Amino acid sequence: MTFDWKHIIAGPCAAESEEQVWTTAQAIAQSVPDEIRHKLIFRAGLWKPRTSPTTFQGIGDEGLAWLQRIQRELDLPVATEVTQPEQLHRAIEAGLRHLWVGARTSANPIQVQALADALQDHDCSQLTVYIKNPVNNDPALWIGNIQRFLSVTGCNNQAPEVYAIHRGCNHRPCWDMAYFLRQQMPTIPLLLDPSHMSGDANRIDCLCKNAVQLQYDGLMVEVHNHPSQALSDAQQQLTPAQFAAILGSLTEEEEATQLTWLRQMMNEVDDELWSVVARRMEVSHRIGEYKREQGMEIVQPTRYEQMVTSRLAWAQSHDLDPHTVRTIMDALHQESIRKQK
Ligand code: PEP
Ligand code: MN
Repeated sequence: MTFDWKHIIAGPCAAESEEQVWTTAQAIAQSVPDEIRHKLIFRAGLWKPRTSPTTFQGIGDEGLAWLQRIQRELDLPVATEVTQPEQLHRAIEAGLRHLWVGARTSANPIQVQALADALQDHDCSQLTVYIKNPVNNDPALWIGNIQRFLSVTGCNNQAPEVYAIHRGCNHRPCWDMAYFLRQQMPTIPLLLDPSHMSGDANRIDCLCKNAVQLQYDGLMVEVHNHPSQALSDAQQQLTPAQFAAILGSLTEEEEATQLTWLRQMMNEVDDELWSVVARRMEVSHRIGEYKREQGMEIVQPTRYEQMVTSRLAWAQSHDLDPHTVRTIMDALHQESIRKQK
């Protein structure tokens, strides 16, 4: 493996117990290919921004000592997520030098500014801050958050190193967002987080290949010693062995051009397009059931003509060829009729 990654961040979604983080960190450190061992950073969330208040909220301050032990005894730097200034102070005072701002925090510029302001009291010269994209597809907000950290001057007048992490939105990549960031901020190193991007351990392999193709500067991947027992994000975590196998399987790719990015965006749009078609057919099926119950004819010509007329008017205002739109509508209509029979 010769591509030039800066950092590879790996570890569980959350620190759950000392044994869990220790065993996972040891296994990751031992199983990654030798040539990237010095680029490895262990990750574990202590303060977890969870959707539901009834799920595991993170171990909190108690886990700091567990992470300190990993740094000390495995010679492995550790990263954790901070959502509030108090957490940032405690993490830095405990000796952590890699902090990330999660997607939920990244959606709130006031919270991000409070974190950036909290850094003024610290020596930022050894610090790296990683900014995830916000939960919504808002590249300008992501860039604004990065600027907030770039303009921090810590107590010795130095800004921290700032990285961006692309983790997608709603389990979709939103490649357009990362492409925009790359164009606007070409010097900011960009990592890919395939775990939160997909929400699915089976899709990590393919997304890591995309990271190589698109010349990302590294990865952040969720790795747990027993993924199925994880207290958060169980379905997307890899075992250390699976993670090492993926890293070992990656090979050098052609240099990414604008076309590489555009094709990636096109694949994503096609995925969306076909999911929408599948959803339309589910609705068609339900309409078919209703018509059957009511003794109605499946084909209702007046309704279809109304749909065609309004869609062709819409097509004109969107610079789409009416004949093409009509052809696609007729094909969809035929498939709907088949679904309703
Ligand atoms: C995480 O990294 O565990 C996390 C909460 O990620 P995100 O902010 O991307 O959802
Ligand atoms: Mn997670």
